[in-house]
Amino acid sequence: MTTLIEPEEHTYLREAVADFTRNYVRPPGADSRHFWQAAAKLGYIGVNLPEEYGGGGGGIAELSIVLEEMGAAGNPLLMMIVSPAICGTVISRFGTEAQKQDWLPALADGTRMMAFGITEPDAGSNSHRITTTARRDGDDWLLTGRKVFISGVDICDATLVVGRTETVPTEEGRTGRLKPCLFIVPRDTPGFERRAIDMELDADETQFELTLDDVRLPADALVGGGSSHASGSGGEDAGLLQLFAGLNPERIMTAAFGIGMGRYALSRALDYARERTVWKTPIGAHQAIAHPLAQAHIDLELARLMMQKAAHLYDAGDDIGAGEAANMAKYAAGEACVKAVDQAVHTLGGNGLTREFGLASLITASRVARIAPVSREMILNYVSHQTLGLPKSY
Ligand SMILES: Cc1cc2nc3c(=O)[nH]c(=O)nc-3n(C[C@H](O)[C@H](O)[C@H](O)COP(=O)(O)OP(=O)(O)OC[C@H]3O[C@@H](n4cnc5c(N)ncnc54)[C@H](O)[C@@H]3O)c2cc1C
Repeated sequence: MTTLIEPEEHTYLREAVADFTRNYVRPPGADSRHFWQAAAKLGYIGVNLPEEYGGGGGGIAELSIVLEEMGAAGNPLLMMIVSPAICGTVISRFGTEAQKQDWLPALADGTRMMAFGITEPDAGSNSHRITTTARRDGDDWLLTGRKVFISGVDICDATLVVGRTETVPTEEGRTGRLKPCLFIVPRDTPGFERRAIDMELDADETQFELTLDDVRLPADALVGGGSSHASGSGGEDAGLLQLFAGLNPERIMTAAFGIGMGRYALSRALDYARERTVWKTPIGAHQAIAHPLAQAHIDLELARLMMQKAAHLYDAGDDIGAGEAANMAKYAAGEACVKAVDQAVHTLGGNGLTREFGLASLITASRVARIAPVSREMILNYVSHQTLGLPKSY
């Protein structure tokens, strides 16, 4: 049963992560990975990964707390949505023993990171249309295709690339069911090229367009292994299951990203509204300022409740129930984040747009929570069709 009251150990985890993030000072010359590694040393990055592979043995509930609190303290790690949440989950649940040994301890202790690539230029939100194709060449695989907006490829040791096997005819594949397969592609594999996309985002992570031109991969690059006698949890036919296993954590973690950022913006606005006085009282006494901030707080709290429900269902093994809740949590958090940031910037008046106060750049950053990894409209479509049973327009 979903408990609406957070267990004590979650409250402690929140406080510890918030303290750690607020007190972190990046040493001169260190890059953004330093914070990642410092957090990993404390067990935060791999908190959801299995204990026998060096993780914390927790779930997405704990991982989402870590990301939310980092964001609320002003230092969100976008790659947590990808490396431990998607890639760590998929490998823990479906990887071969060798893949688990190879990756999980390193993902947990922060020595290695993994990116995730599904989005394609010609498919966009319609991932059934992806055309990145894997074909057999002896024991090897040859992977060819294009990806876009893939985060952190330069700082990750490998990218988990979603492709499809050639056994699905192209025409049928374009309009038919998605039959994916997931490959671990090391960053420097020949034929795996990346080009940074010039985004209007003030963030440590870069997005990339990827070109895969007959990228040769060994059989064991396929998650779950390539043997035809796959046990049902691995191999070429298991890709859909693997993919969905990774997508629920991705949505829950994006909700955490949005809630954290919204809380950060709101707290900055509250500090300002309590102090700034241009008439007789601080501006926060005017209801035109106070009420939208109160609404932003309520929306963030509501989004967090749904995120906790989604994480609880997911960690309890209810993938189907978690699917609906994770989508709704992502939707609610994306909207709450955008509104909180908008109101926070407005509360600061002209200072809302100065670099010194640092809130304006959140206007674009907050939109990430609305568009990725699945847009607001695609979630409304999902709820219309799956939950409400309405017909499809596409
Ligand atoms: C900062 C950032 C980081 C990202 N990182 C990654 C990553 O690491 N890995 C990865 O694989 N991807 C990543 N993405 C990609 C992201 O998941 C996609 O941008 C997203 O899925 C939307 O796809 P699209 O951009 O092609 O938009 P499109 O699919 O072209 O959609 C454009 C607009 O049309 C709307 N629309 C589309 N179809 C419908 C419909 N049927 N009904 C109503 N409206 C519709 C959408 O809601 C949207 O508003 C990232 C994106 C961003 C911005």
